[in-house]
Amino acid sequence: MQTNFTEAQLADPQTAASEKILRTCVHCGFCTATCPTYLLLGDELDSPRGRIYLIKDMLENGKPANAEVVTHLDRCLSCLSCMTTCPSGVHYQHLIDHARAHVEETFERPWHDRLMRELLARVLPYPGRFRLALAGALLGKPLRPLLERLPVLGPRLGAMLSLAPSTLPPRSAAKAGDVFVPSTGRLRRVALLTGCAQPVLDPAINDATIRLLTRLGVEVVLPKGEGCCGALVHHMGREHEGHAFAKANIDAWTAEMEGAGLDAIIITASGCGTTIKDYGHMLREDAAYAAKAARVSALAKDITEFLAGLDLPESEPKGLTVAYHSACSMQHGQKITDAPKLLLRRMGFTVKDVPEAHICCGSAGVYNILQPEIAGQLRARKVRNIERTKPDLIAAGNIGCMTQIGKGTEIPIVHTVQLIDWATGGPAPESLKSLA
Ligand code: SF4
Ligand code: SF4
Repeated sequence: MQTNFTEAQLADPQTAASEKILRTCVHCGFCTATCPTYLLLGDELDSPRGRIYLIKDMLENGKPANAEVVTHLDRCLSCLSCMTTCPSGVHYQHLIDHARAHVEETFERPWHDRLMRELLARVLPYPGRFRLALAGALLGKPLRPLLERLPVLGPRLGAMLSLAPSTLPPRSAAKAGDVFVPSTGRLRRVALLTGCAQPVLDPAINDATIRLLTRLGVEVVLPKGEGCCGALVHHMGREHEGHAFAKANIDAWTAEMEGAGLDAIIITASGCGTTIKDYGHMLREDAAYAAKAARVSALAKDITEFLAGLDLPESEPKGLTVAYHSACSMQHGQKITDAPKLLLRRMGFTVKDVPEAHICCGSAGVYNILQPEIAGQLRARKVRNIERTKPDLIAAGNIGCMTQIGKGTEIPIVHTVQLIDWATGGPAPESLKSLA
């Protein structure tokens, strides 16, 4: 694609990076076929190619974002399906990240949109606040039919209440600063990202990870100072907040690397993994953090990626069929496609691929709250496809997808690592006790 940025515009490193991305797009439109929003809405401006044009026009002409552009960019799930499809290697992820930051700087959203985004940014990344909010949502759930009819805020409030769990699981006993030492001698040492929303919604995931890793001879540390990876605010265009979360994590992990050492930084939510693997890019212009961020990104591993490098014993057949849902952040963001399925098969499960596996379930961070209608349609489509495989259970590697899909089906859904832990001697996941 031909571009016409001025020398002055290209002096800004972010604009220069986006200009390079824009130039790689050859307008072929292959990406439109696999874009969930184009599939549902059929509008070119809700396709990757259409959004690329909108972003180019906005950045090249130095325009502030306007309501029309924001509508189409907000509808993008950042699922990155377009990046998997694109034959030209267009780095849409970095382009949309830049565009979202530009929107945040130049566009005044309506009050209700600002309020909702502020609320999400101030609550979700902090486990204590999030837990409190979920306790409040338990009380608010019976009022949902009333609240969702409210003008303007109603649909988003309804989505929030419907996504909130109906009971709050007890907190994990694991806490920041803990070190879990394997009883059989240490082969490796890793840091585990405890995260923000996941340990509140489903603490059993990290508990299973710790049990599994220590059983395999891996020492696990939960470094003090770790927190949210920053993805939630980063995807809302709140660049500075995203960078602040990233820096806090980088400091915590760098201290470990320089102390007892780390072989990997383990992540059990693929949405977080995609962002942490991008820290090197996010902070490339920051003299104090660029090198440390790149080092952290190089050490970041999804739990299944890490497990694939260990010699896991093969298990007896379980007689259970698992529909494996590959999160977009797993398959498109991190290009991890086969490892989770191979591990599950090795553990004795029959694994089924889900039709239209490349299409997002509609979770996408806080997308299912901010765009409840599109997210609902995508969930229904995903659940239909999963149920066609007639599974006993569903496995996924991202808490956002687990919550989103779990609200649309009675089939139990668990994290891949919980199944591997179970197959290697751990307890059966709570929701599968009736199958065990
Ligand atoms: S990231 Fe997903 S929703 Fe956004 S343009 Fe690409 S394929 Fe479409
Ligand atoms: S597939 Fe790639 S090159 Fe083709 S229009 Fe989409 S982004 Fe551009």
